[in-house]
Amino acid sequence: MTVSGKTRVCAVIGDPVKHSLSPCIHNAAFQHLKLDYVYVAFEVARGDLEKAVQGIKSLGIYGVNVTMPHKIAIMKHLDELDETAETVGAVNTILNKKGKLIGYNTDGEGALRALEAENQNPAGKKVVILGAGGASRSVSHSLAPLVRELMILNQAVDFEKAEKLAKELTTRFGSKIMYGKLSEDNLKRELENADLFVNATPVGMHPNENETPVDRGLLRRDLAIFDLVYHPCETRLLKEAKAVGAPTIEGLSMLVRQGAASFEIWTGKKPPVDVMIEAARERLKQLREAK
Ligand code: NAP
Repeated sequence: MTVSGKTRVCAVIGDPVKHSLSPCIHNAAFQHLKLDYVYVAFEVARGDLEKAVQGIKSLGIYGVNVTMPHKIAIMKHLDELDETAETVGAVNTILNKKGKLIGYNTDGEGALRALEAENQNPAGKKVVILGAGGASRSVSHSLAPLVRELMILNQAVDFEKAEKLAKELTTRFGSKIMYGKLSEDNLKRELENADLFVNATPVGMHPNENETPVDRGLLRRDLAIFDLVYHPCETRLLKEAKAVGAPTIEGLSMLVRQGAASFEIWTGKKPPVDVMIEAARERLKQLREAK
């Protein structure tokens, strides 16, 4: 790869970003397609976000991924929002179109593509999603128009989030959106006639890899399991689901595919998804070995 004065710079901004997989995923794709782009990571503290946005403009950074904690706060600094970013209420991708910053949200699209890659069509299904934070919002907005029923369960400490999300979705998509408090009984009852379970909480994420959001006894062959956690790639939940013969969808697949959708926005090219997945797996392996 030769970086020149004409090379387009893309970046992820967040805090922390040192372990972000995005530079590896995107640089692998740029190199594979021989595109004159390079992707870097910038750690931006909460209080520096406005200055960072000015920097994107003044330095002519072409494409940006936005990660925690800036996905919501960045919105007010952008010139335009696409419809999905506006309705989800968060931005994960920016295109710098000749100095005009346009915000997008590709997380939900990444989730739908990850399901499709495993031949899991959510149309007409009952889906139970655990968590009502940022990831749940994006995924719920993309699933809600397709499914028969969407049940959002959230832990009791901040129950209002699930209520707010469910009310928003009900206004847009009708009465098939439900919400409830996370409890053993509720989870058991809701999973009994569900087709797909989505873990949109950090339960099971490194370093708490022994944790799982669903008791092994509630898993079955005809309940597909989608774990948004991608570090590790194969969480305890996914391992136990595979052991009972259930279809599984990895969070890494969603991560790469939301990145692939950003890549399309920036380059207009079809992303080499397999190359991107391989790069992400390799980077995760390096991170684990470095521990
Ligand atoms: P977030 O905004 O902080 O939301 C987390 C949600 O999980 C909240 O509803 C929180 O409840 C709930 N929660 C936290 N700890 C819990 C526990 N011990 N038991 C039950 N519920 C719990 O985080 P996020 O951005 O949505 O991310 C959630 C997970 O998705 C993370 O692991 C993240 O890495 C992953 N993720 C993956 C992708 C991907 O592309 N694969 C994309 C985005 C995020 P409260 O409301 O009570 O806090």
